[in-house]
Amino acid sequence: MSYNRVYNFSAGPSMLPESVLEKAAAQMMNYEGSGMSVMEMSHRSKVYESIIGSVESKLRKVMNIPDNYKVLFLQGGATGQFAAIPMNLMTKNKKADYIVTGQFSKKAADEAKKYGEVHIAASSKDKNFTYIPRQEELDLSPDADYVYICYNNTIYGSTWDYIPETNGIPLVADISSFILSAPLDISKFGLVYAGAQKNMGPAGVTVVIVREDLMGNAVPYCPVVWDYKTMSENDSMYNTPPTYGIYMIGLVLDWVEENGGCEGLAKINEAKAKLLYDAIDQSPLFSNPVDEKSRSMMNVTFVTGDETKDADFVKKATAEGFLNIKGHRSVGGMRASIYNAMPTEGIEKLVEFMKNYEKE
Ligand SMILES: *Cc1c(COP(=O)(O)O)cnc(C)c1O
Repeated sequence: MSYNRVYNFSAGPSMLPESVLEKAAAQMMNYEGSGMSVMEMSHRSKVYESIIGSVESKLRKVMNIPDNYKVLFLQGGATGQFAAIPMNLMTKNKKADYIVTGQFSKKAADEAKKYGEVHIAASSKDKNFTYIPRQEELDLSPDADYVYICYNNTIYGSTWDYIPETNGIPLVADISSFILSAPLDISKFGLVYAGAQKNMGPAGVTVVIVREDLMGNAVPYCPVVWDYKTMSENDSMYNTPPTYGIYMIGLVLDWVEENGGCEGLAKINEAKAKLLYDAIDQSPLFSNPVDEKSRSMMNVTFVTGDETKDADFVKKATAEGFLNIKGHRSVGGMRASIYNAMPTEGIEKLVEFMKNYEKE
């Protein structure tokens, strides 16, 4: 069935698989004989309890989450976690190491400064965030409460190509634009978290995956909705969770499983990203500034080197149905966010469009 949909290259909220949207539409008026939409259900009802329970077990399975980690469904976005993380974890030595590889890690570091001492252990700002610092460049503190990274830099189009060694200090990672795109060894982290609206569902849910022993030390003024221990003890239902968004994540997880899980999607995503990077690398017009080994599979940035030409390209691409291809306002140029739900065909057509534009 054709709905006349566009190829939406938005960095988030972003495309969802069409079959997921169809399933949600089919279940909209009466969810499995309950006589109501999931939106209308009490979060304390049996039927909703089974929804949230099954979403958690699907996520555990798909991401291979070890048993000693809790899964929380919170609100406040990834930005809420910029504050929640120090309030929960920066409580022993009141000190944390932040590695700044883009705007979101910079914002996280700035927020954390309200709660304790922030040490910038490395930054790639010197080259406009086009690379990921190497292990030997990290100036890690022996007494940090945690080390913080942003695993995939949505704005600059780079990804950590290795997991840094932190010598027993908990590693915390923002995986908002990485989650479900490829396998990730959760046991290497103390905490990972992601806003749903990039690769997992609609905006409004933030998934936090936290090692059990790191909970229970929140500062007394930590809002209860962000106290990991309280939220965990109440199965993310201390208060009303973002019920519909959580249900949508469940539908997306079913789709992830149908596509071979994170392993299967990683292969597809690698092939998708390669199509676009090859086209950029072979192009006489477009180029990508990111260090080759740390290029993001999810957010592909490119420029012509001429702002007027960039604007012209974006305008013509938009007219052809390639939407939200303009780079972030702080970077300029173009950015194609090609999350799980972007079909290969969308990238093939974009590449074809880029080639024709070059000829012109
Ligand atoms: C989008 C994004 C954020 C901000 O998310 P909000 O939900 O808007 O707070 C933070 N970090 C990363 C890596 C992102 O991609």
